[in-house]
Amino acid sequence: KPIVAILGRPNVGKSTLFNRIVGGRVAIVEDTPGVTRDRLYMDAEWSGRHFTLVDTGGLDFQEDSEITGHVRTQVELAIREADVVLFVVDARAGLNPDDLEVASVVRRAHKPAVLVVNKVENFDSPEKIYDFFQLGLGDPVPVSAAEGLNTGDMLDRLVELLPPDQGVADSPDIIKIAVIGRPNVGKSSLVNSLLGEERVIVSNIPGTTRDAIDTTFERDGKNYMLIDTAGIRRRSRVERTTEKYSVIRSLRAIDRCDVVLVVIDAVEGVTEQDKRIAGYAHEAGKGSILVVNKWDLVEKDDKTMKRYSDKVRQELAFMPYAPLIFTSALTGKRVLKVLELVDFVAEKHATRVSTANLNTLIREATQQNPPPADKTRRLKILYATQSGVKPPRFVLFVNDPELLHFSYQRYLENQIRSAYGFEGTPLRFSLRRRS
Ligand code: GDP
Repeated sequence: KPIVAILGRPNVGKSTLFNRIVGGRVAIVEDTPGVTRDRLYMDAEWSGRHFTLVDTGGLDFQEDSEITGHVRTQVELAIREADVVLFVVDARAGLNPDDLEVASVVRRAHKPAVLVVNKVENFDSPEKIYDFFQLGLGDPVPVSAAEGLNTGDMLDRLVELLPPDQGVADSPDIIKIAVIGRPNVGKSSLVNSLLGEERVIVSNIPGTTRDAIDTTFERDGKNYMLIDTAGIRRRSRVERTTEKYSVIRSLRAIDRCDVVLVVIDAVEGVTEQDKRIAGYAHEAGKGSILVVNKWDLVEKDDKTMKRYSDKVRQELAFMPYAPLIFTSALTGKRVLKVLELVDFVAEKHATRVSTANLNTLIREATQQNPPPADKTRRLKILYATQSGVKPPRFVLFVNDPELLHFSYQRYLENQIRSAYGFEGTPLRFSLRRRS
């Protein structure tokens, strides 16, 4: 999804505009353990185009001072990650030297930008916005974020500037892999080890942002794409210091992939950030594989692996379906096995089961373990069907959705999982009332 960054001095109304654009939408990170409070970004949609709006609220300009080098770097980073910039200025305050400064950074980045002049409640006096032509960012678009005036026109402009929908690398038979994990867990080593084994790197495809490089390769007639390998390999000082953007980068890679490799450092164990990222992959309905790397560094006896997996399972209890593998990118141990798992998980993630078969399964499951009831009624599952893949989605038609308790749903899920071997992928269920 394209990224749209809102930039501007404090108090120009960035957050008001942000909220206006995303409307009543729920933050896509909201259900993810630990991420909620960051409110890094939200999904938005206009005229059928989806994009991710980044709140650069953290990029505070210091009052009464010039933009410091630090803030400037932050602004540059925000712009670099963005596909389109919404640059917000304040009509009441008028043109400000800081505006000029930021505008010059935006211009030099050659990123498409919409110049938004906020706090215009009265469109009868256009002279208020004339000054802003000086910023050299094209025609200013007057809006009132607070009143919602003219924001539709602004969004029309914005949508025109979004990059075209990505269609090229979207051939259905390519397996897209995101390698995710904190710095130094061994992502690059793992990727290099994988590619080194293959020696058939087909090409590097520029991703949606200028910086993202997707690497495709082939093995045994199957095609794979490693998403954003540039983000994995590059290691500039700036990037290391801005965790926020490396997280966004990871989340974007997850959005575009089929299977996530969650790489965990065997020595450090599962960290908070690992949990958040894995939680995001789970919520996004992606296939997941837990890769405990640097296994060579762990002193082992015959129970170590079992103990370790129990611990990881406990920490990432929301994805019991994800296969767990212990690797060493250094020695190459089990690295090829990772690719086998990717094939396996990708297949499960895209599996479609027959309706007849599914209904037989549900009937047997309800006979074995009768559905819950309240004082007057018992749950009846009339019919089930699979409504989609990646991840597999099921619709259950029931007499009363209220009667389907969580534990019973879990029971049905497990029955379906084991019947069809749904490993590595989350499953989605929705209920429809049918009497
Ligand atoms: P990235 O930041 O996640 O891409 O991590 P790198 O691949 O750059 O690895 C960070 C450091 O860990 C490097 O010094 C690697 O040589 C080392 N490393 C990576 N994988 C392993 C492994 O499996 N075992 C050991 N002992 N070291 C590893």
